[in-house]
Amino acid sequence: MEIANNKNIYQVTSSDYPLSCPGKNMSKSESHPKIFIKLDKKGEGVCPYCGAIYRAHHNT
Ligand SMILES: [Zn+2]
Repeated sequence: MEIANNKNIYQVTSSDYPLSCPGKNMSKSESHPKIFIKLDKKGEGVCPYCGAIYRAHHNT
């Protein structure tokens, strides 16, 4: 099974930490065992279950 779209991108801020997926604002259709997402140095993390991408929001 492949996820072929890039629509599951979530902008997150420090107030959302620690990040978990599925998040509180997500629909039930994306539900899976709850896990915590770690962001890399670029401020990006991917959920291994649903492929949701989390990006830290930067105010520049
Ligand atoms: Zn997920």
